[in-house]
Amino acid sequence: MMESKIIYEDLIITMSYERSGGHVCDACKGDILKLQEIFRIEETCKFFIHNYIIHRSCMNDFLKKHKNK
Ligand SMILES: [Zn+2]
Repeated sequence: MMESKIIYEDLIITMSYERSGGHVCDACKGDILKLQEIFRIEETCKFFIHNYIIHRSCMNDFLKKHKNK
C-alpha cells in the first residue's frame, strides 16, 4: 500500500489506510474502519505536536476548522 506525504502550512499530512480500525475521526467523530482511506495529520505548532486521524472525505472540513482557529 502506498503512502504519500504532503506539507501544507504547519501540517504534515500522510495519506494511508487504517490498518487496525478502532480510531475515531477527529473531524466528524465517526468510526474509522479497517482499511479505510485516511489522512494522518501532524500539526507542528509552537511547542508541541498534535496528531489527528481523519477520514479522507473529512479533509475539507478539517482544513476549514483548522484555518478558523
Ligand atoms: Zn470523518
